Amino acid sequence: MTVAAAVEDTIFRRAKRKRLRDHNYCNMTYQCCDCAVSDVKLWRALFHRTSRGKLRCCDCAAKNQHHLDIHDMAETGMHMNMNKTGMTDQIGCLVPAIPMKESDAFSGDIQAYPEEDWAWWDRLPLRR
Ligand SMILES: [Zn+2]
Repeated sequence: MTVAAAVEDTIFRRAKRKRLRDHNYCNMTYQCCDCAVSDVKLWRALFHRTSRGKLRCCDCAAKNQHHLDIHDMAETGMHMNMNKTGMTDQIGCLVPAIPMKESDAFSGDIQAYPEEDWAWWDRLPLRR
């Protein structure tokens, strides 16, 4: 392991412990990779299944998705979909980043998040 990797690993583990202490829920650094805001609702790319994947807040996620318009997004994370046919909690192709409980990973099955995991995400504010 290189020094840089070791330092990053230490920071990562420390952040992970802090998360466990603070919220006793998720086992990862729950922070926007672009603006560094934390403790807000975050989104992830579907294929990013670990905490090392890029997590983004609603505004950075929208920017990342070709400046998608999310001005109508409610505190719940819901907004009108791109085709104006219904409400969605996805931002472009990014999905709500809801980690598995006491885990540092995301489930591959976004249709099957347990109720309590949704409840945790719902309680997070949209912005700070
Ligand atoms: Zn952000």
